[in-house]
Amino acid sequence: MQFKRRTHTCGELRETNIGETVTLNGWVNTRRDLGGLIFIDIRDRYGITQIVFEPTFNAEAHRLAKELRNEYVISVEGIVRKRPADTDNAELPTGHIDIMANKLIILNEAKTPPFPIEDEIDTHEETRLKYRYLDLRRSKLQKNLLLRHKMYMLARKYFDANDFVEVETPVLMKSTPEGARDFLVPSRLHKGKFYALPQSPQQYKQLLMISGLDKYFQIVKCFRDEDLRADRQPEFTQIDVEMSFVNQEDVFETVEGLMRLMFKEIWNKELQLPLPRLSFDEAMEKYGSDKPDLRFNLEMVTLNNVFVNTNFKVFKDQIESNGIITGLLAPGCGEYTRNQLDVLTDFVKKLGAGGLIWMRVKEDGLDAPIAKFLSDEEKLNIISKLSAKTGDLIFILSGAKLKALNIMGALRLEMARRLELIKKDAQPQLLWVTDFPLFEWDDETKRYFAMHHPFTSPRIEDVQYMESEPGKVHARAYDLVLNGSEIAGGSIRIHSAELQAKMFKALGISDEEAESKFGFLMKAFQYGAPPHGGIAFGFDRMAMIFAGESSIRDVIAFPKTASAVSLMDDCPSEVSEAQLTELYIRVRK
Ligand code: ASP
Repeated sequence: MQFKRRTHTCGELRETNIGETVTLNGWVNTRRDLGGLIFIDIRDRYGITQIVFEPTFNAEAHRLAKELRNEYVISVEGIVRKRPADTDNAELPTGHIDIMANKLIILNEAKTPPFPIEDEIDTHEETRLKYRYLDLRRSKLQKNLLLRHKMYMLARKYFDANDFVEVETPVLMKSTPEGARDFLVPSRLHKGKFYALPQSPQQYKQLLMISGLDKYFQIVKCFRDEDLRADRQPEFTQIDVEMSFVNQEDVFETVEGLMRLMFKEIWNKELQLPLPRLSFDEAMEKYGSDKPDLRFNLEMVTLNNVFVNTNFKVFKDQIESNGIITGLLAPGCGEYTRNQLDVLTDFVKKLGAGGLIWMRVKEDGLDAPIAKFLSDEEKLNIISKLSAKTGDLIFILSGAKLKALNIMGALRLEMARRLELIKKDAQPQLLWVTDFPLFEWDDETKRYFAMHHPFTSPRIEDVQYMESEPGKVHARAYDLVLNGSEIAGGSIRIHSAELQAKMFKALGISDEEAESKFGFLMKAFQYGAPPHGGIAFGFDRMAMIFAGESSIRDVIAFPKTASAVSLMDDCPSEVSEAQLTELYIRVRK
């Protein structure tokens, strides 16, 4: 079929083009047949333009236009004219003109799409994902992909301007524990052997430092076979960064520069630098989270001091066993009904709390089921420590430190939601969380894990406790938090083979295991490893926040569902017996 190439895009024509003969290519967005006149909105990535087919202007084009349906692909030639008085569409940049068509070519017909190609649709996400190529025609998703593109470009330009080198690292690598579960790829050439898809290029970027690359970055796909959550995908994108001869401050400066650029270029906001910092301990005690949302106050308060000499058994036990008693003020919630309080109690119980203590602040003191167990002094101290006023409600949770703080942190977010404390136009809150613990105790397996990953350096002054009191050791690790989401995390690394061996030992990784899994890295450390450190951004999550979306699927072209399935191409799928045989694999029924 003959095809006329466009002279302009569908978002381009203005009043200055009036009188010109132009050709547009695109999709039929809408069609209105008024008998005599037919109006078509033609759409492409750049915008929408109105086309008018009039029998007296061109009978042939008008006749053909009767056949048009939504999503047909067309080429139209015509003359740009000023829209007749009172028919301007101020919402469209092209809304002051339209095109009198004198030639129409139908380039392709289209079936009726399963949902309208519009921004506000209430179509089930499953249908949208199944027909993702149509979903991506919607301008909202196109905008998100363009924003994502802009963010890649900003990052690449920024790192390039600061002497960073983009290096690609392998997608087929050795399976090495980095925290999550690996995706495995069977080797055909090596019977019974497997590659793993990288959870991140962590080891490669450290090796690149040993190679002398000095400053590395990469926009890279990473893979983790984990149970999914709303803001996770089995494959996701990182902006991965590593630098030699640096300390934490150098990494922060580099990252802050990039964030300032993104704030400016994407949100047109000036980011105040340096960014605020909270230690992990402080973040946990005040906000019950290592990724605190600072768009609202509502700080938690540790009340252990109030109860050092208490007779109330529940609190006394916690104080004796090094637990924590944490309080949260819910301003103006003193009149919550029993039912509301029961719902909140269930909320914390589901998260593992034994129960929730609540107290209404009244004119004459605290009104609470546990009030009778507390001394007057304790009650006064609770009120003053939480700055509580008549009409407020107080929550108290006690228990093992991190667990109780985490649960109170969740309640803090829940209360913010109920009280609508996060305003739509709230200023974005970006901060560093620093001084993470090096190890995390796992109750199930009764052993320590690396909180970040096993290559993270302990604070030098804490190395002495690595064997005797691992729980006391802090890491030189940091996270970057935006509006309550972790958008980047990294650390200063171990660069001595000796300290790395000590770390593996503390993690219960035997010499043989360390040798078989990380031998190459340990060996490399013996050939002159510079001090180094870095960070990686969770790019999808960052794009989601900058786009103002609440699901990362909305900033990924072809995402998987929450159960790790691609509905469009139906993957994962079964493979043929022949393929399996070649890989020496038999699937157990
Ligand atoms: N590789 C780490 C991660 O993916 C980031 C880093 O430490 O640079 O979390």
